[in-house]
Amino acid sequence: MEHTLCFPHFRASSPNKPFTDDTRSKWRRTSSLAPTAAEISSATLMSPPSSLTLNDPIYTKSLSSVRQVHARILKTTDLWLSESTMDSLIQIYSDLGDFRSAAMVFFVALQFGTLSWSHLTNTFGSRDGNICRLLEIFQQLHRIGTTVFSIGIVSRALKECAEVVDFWLGFQIHAYLTKVGMENESYIRCSLMDFYAHCCSLESSDKLFEDSSHQDSILWNKFIVLNVENGRLSEALELFQKMQFWGLELDEVTVSKVLHACGRLEAVKEGKAIHGYVIRSGRFPSALVSNSLISMYSKNFLVNLARRVFEYMGGRTLVSWNSIISCCSLNGYLEEAMELFYDMVASGVKPDLVTWNCLISGYSHHGSPHHTFGFLRRMQNENLRPNSSSITSVLRSIAASGLVELGKEIHGYAIRHGHDRNVFVGTSLTDMYLKCYNLANARSVFDKMPHRNVLTWNSIIAGYAHEGLFDEALELLKQMEEGVEPDITTWNGLISGYSIHGLSSQAVVLIRQMKANGVEPNVISWTAVISGCCRRGQYDDALYYFREMQNEGVQPNSVTIATLLRACASQALLGKGRELHCLATRKALNGDIYVATALIDMYSKSGSLTKAHLVFKLLEHKNLASWNAMIMGFGAHGQGKEAISLFNQMSAAGIKSDGITFTALLSGCRHSGLVDDGWNYFDSMNKYNVTPSLEHYTCMVDLLARCGYLDEAWDFMQNMPFEPDASIWGSLLSACRTHKNVELAEMVATRLFQLEPYNSANYLLMMSIYASANRWEDAKNVRDAMNAAGVKSWAGWSWVEIDQTVHVFEIEGRPHPEIGKIYFELSQLVSEMRRVGYVPDTSCIVYNVGEEEKEKMLLTHTEKLAITYGLISTGSGTPIRVIKNTRVCNDCHMVAKYMSEITGREILVRDGVRFHHFMDGRCSCNDFW
Ligand SMILES: [Zn+2]
Ligand SMILES: [Zn+2]
Repeated sequence: MEHTLCFPHFRASSPNKPFTDDTRSKWRRTSSLAPTAAEISSATLMSPPSSLTLNDPIYTKSLSSVRQVHARILKTTDLWLSESTMDSLIQIYSDLGDFRSAAMVFFVALQFGTLSWSHLTNTFGSRDGNICRLLEIFQQLHRIGTTVFSIGIVSRALKECAEVVDFWLGFQIHAYLTKVGMENESYIRCSLMDFYAHCCSLESSDKLFEDSSHQDSILWNKFIVLNVENGRLSEALELFQKMQFWGLELDEVTVSKVLHACGRLEAVKEGKAIHGYVIRSGRFPSALVSNSLISMYSKNFLVNLARRVFEYMGGRTLVSWNSIISCCSLNGYLEEAMELFYDMVASGVKPDLVTWNCLISGYSHHGSPHHTFGFLRRMQNENLRPNSSSITSVLRSIAASGLVELGKEIHGYAIRHGHDRNVFVGTSLTDMYLKCYNLANARSVFDKMPHRNVLTWNSIIAGYAHEGLFDEALELLKQMEEGVEPDITTWNGLISGYSIHGLSSQAVVLIRQMKANGVEPNVISWTAVISGCCRRGQYDDALYYFREMQNEGVQPNSVTIATLLRACASQALLGKGRELHCLATRKALNGDIYVATALIDMYSKSGSLTKAHLVFKLLEHKNLASWNAMIMGFGAHGQGKEAISLFNQMSAAGIKSDGITFTALLSGCRHSGLVDDGWNYFDSMNKYNVTPSLEHYTCMVDLLARCGYLDEAWDFMQNMPFEPDASIWGSLLSACRTHKNVELAEMVATRLFQLEPYNSANYLLMMSIYASANRWEDAKNVRDAMNAAGVKSWAGWSWVEIDQTVHVFEIEGRPHPEIGKIYFELSQLVSEMRRVGYVPDTSCIVYNVGEEEKEKMLLTHTEKLAITYGLISTGSGTPIRVIKNTRVCNDCHMVAKYMSEITGREILVRDGVRFHHFMDGRCSCNDFW
């Protein structure tokens, strides 16, 4: 009965030639070892032409003519028994797509042991044959009890089963192997492990390994390779160590796979140990292991070690050159990559598409867009067509440079060559348009994509969220969820969109929502929320979410810490800032350039210039931002000479200065009254290729005016290439008060009130100018004008941080709970001060009241209250740090000097403009502010 299932073609086409023992033995006698495919085809080509030969193209054009020739051969000659005829028939049938006939011929050959299974599967594979057909035939043979299957054939069949996920046939084969007792043969067991890992689960494959009666090297190698291939990377490394421990032989595939795992895990130590093993054993001269070593070191950013492997390896292949060029270019060693490229050409190895793509990709990540485009052109000149990988890299450069017109050209090229249907190209196009602020084109590319992956969705959703189009972004998220599971990046894109637009509370809602969806927020999600809060000035919220993040076990990274440090700097929260410094040190992030620069900024803005300088000195690789932060710090603390000296050191270190450097430098000069230096640096800006901006002109006007050169300042303003803004006029007006120039003040105020009609500070300044000139009527007029315009006077405040609690003192608003105690202490201090010569300076009081009344008013100034509270709430020796939103008045400045002398305390006041560091009765500003 089973025989009826068997091959009708074979039986029908050879009725006259049944297999007899005689023919088999005859064939066996004439056969040598199974010929290779190459030998067969050359034999076929050399066989003499005959009317019945298959070499004649006339007969091989159509299936029917081949069948006719085949039938004739079977009927009339013994030719069909020759291996070359069988091979030709298999090839021709496969070429014509008749895989069944090809298989039939093959099984005849198989019965004779002429051709190997792999020969047929290779022939099938190379001609797009359906492997299922082959397996069906194998199954039929198996059912009729054919026992000619060698280990090779069974392994091959299992491999095919795994590929097409035919687990029923796989199980049958497993059962058959158990029956015939071949199950424990190592190679068979490897194939079974492979099959189970592919079609069932890795665990069932593990079990086969564990149950093996004899776990030899072959099985171990397979076991490790399967672990790596299925993502169990750390386990693979452990197994590898065990294998070495037991002295089992490792093969080169296993070594290369384990090296791959070390690259992915960034396991440098293990990778180096394997390198050591490779050198000691001396058994791996092949390029495969060397190439894997290069790639392992490359992924661990150890370019020098990768280069050493490359230099000492023999038999460099194209793959080796590509590995080392890719290593250098992806790690940003672009010049080295280019040198290697020329060495490669010089050594006679022709760069291929992969080589060029490595360079293009490296330059798109680390170099200029200009270079990326250059390589693309050169590659095309070599007659190599850019593929999807080249296009993706080039699009990255376009996105970075914002050259949207060029992007459109590449888009056109991609469409013409059918690359736009590639999911990576489509995603890069979407991303490029989004980064070039062309949402419409991005959407159109996205809508046309036949396949989208999670990256595509993430890119478009983040694009809409960053534009603030949240409804569309959420709608897209809904569509995405129908086919693709949103991942952490999807959620983070939305969260950062909400944060950028100042909607931190919605961002937090998303954090909760992603958790409900089973995605745990990571450091990027939390940092986005925190930086959103900081951007809106919601520092308490920022610190609150920072605590929540840590409570959830998410560790901050350098971006989180730098963001929070900037928040501390703007609030001068020294205590919190110090805490963050400790945290950064514990996390080994204090050497990070962004963290260190934020620390310098925080310490100098919180009044601790010494600490800022210490961080700066300890920073190993200083960049422009860190130099700028330090120069700015010295400048704001009135140490203009130090700022200049630092600038000279920076230039000597070969760091190119920018606009910010000059703002720092000029503001250093202005806080120290260094007019000549200010002019020098302002004039030298062109030499440094920096065009002076409004900010630089503002510094110069301020510097000249503060030093009393009011006319020069006025002239300078008339000749500058910018329309003066309120801040320039404001600093000039302020200088008019200092230098008591009422006439100029009136001219300036007219302009200023036009530009800023609602800023109470300007009116108050003008009132105080009139008041100090005893022009009370004019002062009253200004007050009336201010009231008529409905301008509310801007509430001044000061605060002092004690034990990480901020105590705020406001002119209006709720008084401090300990205000009684504070006034008592203050009046005690004032009477003590009077004994050593203090006379109140009432010039800043713009009310025409009695002198005694004015003195009382002076006592209510918030900075006095804050300093006094600081003195009574902290132990001796603790410096007092007070932050004030407006400029400190003459009287408070004087009082602070006296207080520092009497109490022996260090007092730091950061007012709206600069720092005052009071010590032993003197201020760091030398009374110049
Ligand atoms: Zn004051
Ligand atoms: Zn001062």
